[in-house]
Amino acid sequence: MSAAKRPTPRPGVMQIQAYVPGKSAAPGVDRIFKLSSNETPLGASPKAIAAYKTVAEHLHDYPDGSATALREAIGRVYGLDPNRIVCGSGSDELLNLIADVYLGPDDEAIHTTHGFLVYPIATLGSGAKPVVVAEKNFTADVDAILAAVTPRTRIVFLANPNNPTGTYLPFDEVKRLHAGLRPDVLLVLDAAYAEYVKRNDYEAGIELVATSENVVMTRTFSKIYGLAALRLGWLYGPEHVVDALNRIRGPFNVTAPSIAAGIAAIEDRAHVQTSIEHNAKWLTWLTDEIGKLGLQVTPSVGNFILIHFPEAKGKTAKEADAFLTSRGLIMRGVGAYKLPHALRMTVGSEEANKLVVAALRDFLNGKAK
Ligand SMILES: *Cc1c(COP(=O)(O)O)cnc(C)c1O
Repeated sequence: MSAAKRPTPRPGVMQIQAYVPGKSAAPGVDRIFKLSSNETPLGASPKAIAAYKTVAEHLHDYPDGSATALREAIGRVYGLDPNRIVCGSGSDELLNLIADVYLGPDDEAIHTTHGFLVYPIATLGSGAKPVVVAEKNFTADVDAILAAVTPRTRIVFLANPNNPTGTYLPFDEVKRLHAGLRPDVLLVLDAAYAEYVKRNDYEAGIELVATSENVVMTRTFSKIYGLAALRLGWLYGPEHVVDALNRIRGPFNVTAPSIAAGIAAIEDRAHVQTSIEHNAKWLTWLTDEIGKLGLQVTPSVGNFILIHFPEAKGKTAKEADAFLTSRGLIMRGVGAYKLPHALRMTVGSEEANKLVVAALRDFLNGKAK
């Protein structure tokens, strides 16, 4: 063995392009509207904020390492067995734990061209190889995914709906994907935006998890529940997967303030309903109004839209981003998602949404600022 002069990361780690979060500042602009990270414009439930505060008196106590009360609350709301739920520090942690448990050198994990960037990061971090599969109309393509499976495939990651495209696969297609996989390949259904989806042919994954041994569904408190700052996610999986994950997760991977706020947030169904209705109304409005300006918007079922810009000088996504930023309207550049000519916009408050449409109109009309 050659003696290295300093510690070296295992193969794969240095191939990772570190995740770059959405921008949150517009230098020189007083009032900003952050529409770059798919956060909810309505904030967390006031009940969740109150519950969070009560924990301030108990910061010296370790949290319940198995987050039992939170798993029970999730179980009640979604009709699930709490023993088959694992909570994590954001669903990002859970996706990484899944990769740690099921991937090693020479293994492959599949994700799609415009799939969530955490998948290749988690895959490379485990020393395995990310296999990228082409999409059709910015949508995952079941046949292409199945064609990419090799004897080395261990995981298929599917965000449904997908971020940053906002597209989704109907349940029939997800079932067809599952039916085409070997039983030793784990299908990871990342349903971070499930609560926002208003489609009869959509199912987040609960039914498939309940009826198979190789499907897990991950969920988050960062989006509709408005707790992104706390880092809280959960997954529902088969008993054997839950058992494996519980062996390697940190013994106190979810904090006490997160547990308290998470329970209150998930139980405040009125707040969730208000958020769903706000999103449905403004998702449609933004898609229509931006479409009327002559820009193409990929039909979305999430709380964000993908806006496509022409490649003509003066009209590009990069120039639009700069123009909008100068007005305090912060979008997400999605070049890292192989979408250099698009911007992703989170559905914001009424005020923010109207400002964006007005700003895009001015931008396309060639206004200086
Ligand atoms: C936002 C998002 C998540 C949530 O990540 P957290 O770590 O729970 O904040 C997961 N998957 C996708 C596709 C997302 O867009």
